[in-house]
Amino acid sequence: MYRITKEFHFSASHQLCRLQGDHPCARMHGHNYIVEVELAAETLNENGFVVDYLDLAPLRALIDDRLDHRHLNEVFGHDMVTSEWLARWIFDWCKTRWDQTSAVRISETPKTWAEYRP
Ligand SMILES: [Zn+2]
Repeated sequence: MYRITKEFHFSASHQLCRLQGDHPCARMHGHNYIVEVELAAETLNENGFVVDYLDLAPLRALIDDRLDHRHLNEVFGHDMVTSEWLARWIFDWCKTRWDQTSAVRISETPKTWAEYRP
């Protein structure tokens, strides 16, 4: 199995309103998010790629247009925009475009990652 990954960055705010009032994530705050998309294939295409990294440009556009420097609660219309939830949302978006999509990982801080992998 071949696996490739590409990393994307964006900055955004969110607020996890369902948490107890003294939980720091219950207050509005921001992160410098890192998105890592992983794609996998048993065989390479005619150019020797799983997917050409350049073909992932629409994901860059999605992140820039819909997520970067926005309040994620407003973007998605709910208050459960955790890293886990965001990983699944980006995974589903990617999977409809690139069937090779195998996982999406999201980092909010240098020490934390959340992953969605079916
Ligand atoms: Zn947060």
